[in-house]
Amino acid sequence: MQLMTCFADRKRNTTSAHQLQQNTTILMAQPITFDHAQARQELRQAYIDSLDLGPMRMNIASVVYFPYCDEDFLFDSKTAMEVLFHDAELPRLNIYGNAFEDWKEADFLSSLIDHELTHVQQWISPETRNAVLLPTRLIKRINDCRESRNWTRRRLDGTVRSYQLAISLLEAAMEIPAYTHQITDGVYAKKVSNYRVEEIRYILSKYSALTEAVRSTTGLTPESIVDDTDSACRILKLNVKTIDHAIRGEY
Ligand SMILES: [Zn+2]
Repeated sequence: MQLMTCFADRKRNTTSAHQLQQNTTILMAQPITFDHAQARQELRQAYIDSLDLGPMRMNIASVVYFPYCDEDFLFDSKTAMEVLFHDAELPRLNIYGNAFEDWKEADFLSSLIDHELTHVQQWISPETRNAVLLPTRLIKRINDCRESRNWTRRRLDGTVRSYQLAISLLEAAMEIPAYTHQITDGVYAKKVSNYRVEEIRYILSKYSALTEAVRSTTGLTPESIVDDTDSACRILKLNVKTIDHAIRGEY
């Protein structure tokens, strides 16, 4: 709102060059708040650029606002922000319109600073880096399966399902620490809205149930997928029905 006032002042013919310069200085000095960015789409990138991501920023190629997330599903939850990983490049952090729609500032910052930066840290750490990069390779395998002439057979034998389960397990291994950090020891842990905390607890319960269903039926953990992807996927494939049953029982 203060931004608007400055522009309105500048429109008056009586404004001297000196006043004009002063107004411009005030305009530049005024930080763009979350409320400004929420109200006006065109301020969102500037708001994002004004946030201090600390030393972690040098490990991120770009932090960019996009009005829409291409992979939103009509009836599923909407992606607010995400880190995209690539084998040979620094991660990219995308923030979508959804992040400005229902959240309060603390929920936004909690998601950005406490959650997404945890994923960047997982990419940096040698212990977790392979788990972060593996899902992209498994998605490629799924696509290869679908393009192959054996697709009809493959579709029925559990191969794709085993890759999907492997991806979900790896996702659980990465998401559980990020969500837990948000509601326990994260910088914004005490400020996150109750609504968001409940949502996070629900997501955590789903990921834990999945991990437990796979562990109790096959003995596999997310680490097993990273250590020997082919063997783990073979075991998942042989146990698809049992795992599905366990997941349904747990949920
Ligand atoms: Zn995440």
